[in-house]
Amino acid sequence: MSYCFILMECWRRSKCIIFHSYMTDSNIKASREPEGFYVWFGEGVVMESRGERSDVPMRMVVGETEIRLKQGDITREEVDAIVNAANSGLLGGGGVDGAIHRAGGPEIMEECRQIRARQGGCPTGKAVVTGAGKLKARYVIHAVGPVWRGGDGGEEELLRSAYRESLQRAAERQLQRIAFPSLSTGAYGYPVDKAAPVALSEVIRFLKEENHSLREVRFVLFNEETYQAYETALSRLKES
Ligand code: ADP
Repeated sequence: MSYCFILMECWRRSKCIIFHSYMTDSNIKASREPEGFYVWFGEGVVMESRGERSDVPMRMVVGETEIRLKQGDITREEVDAIVNAANSGLLGGGGVDGAIHRAGGPEIMEECRQIRARQGGCPTGKAVVTGAGKLKARYVIHAVGPVWRGGDGGEEELLRSAYRESLQRAAERQLQRIAFPSLSTGAYGYPVDKAAPVALSEVIRFLKEENHSLREVRFVLFNEETYQAYETALSRLKES
């Protein structure tokens, strides 16, 4: 990361850049916080770039609901419901699914088994709800996104449907805060730069057009590349 790039990036994100004199270690580091963008320079200078809230592109307000992007592990989120990128057998797996079952304990899988016995699982594009075991959230909404097969197999509509269904399950329970991972962009191979605008535009559409009690929709994105794709998509949607 060059100084020039960092400066341009800070300027793009904010209205004001502040330099502080500060002792730090010798590497350039950057971190993004909700209130701004911070860069540590080796010479003992911290540059703090502050945007006004409405200028920070990782948030968007739709009516009374805030859409927020953050990088992190969804199993730690304190929200009413976290969404799981499940498979249609509700059998558990790797990725975020494995992480949720590991952190939440066996109760979640037991409820998944009961749903499977009752209705044979959860088709692609649909979502079902269980409790959240040991997690801080109250519910887990298990949503099944599509496997990417090149884009001509109805993947976009199925991905929209997985987000829409998850929001419907939350609205049915009058939930206020829900956290999503990036559905389908891990093992299911949906390119994240294509998935991010689909995910965000469907959430925005839902918040504008459907009855709901939601006050916050949080996207908890596991790595930098995924975060960047969502940030770019949200910036574009805000401009359009
Ligand atoms: P899918 O099978 O729907 O592609 P994956 O779990 O393989 O689901 O991946 C979906 C996304 O979830 C990927 O971006 C992956 O990096 C991310 N992910 C994996 N673990 C976590 C976690 N603990 N919190 C949030 N996101 C996660």
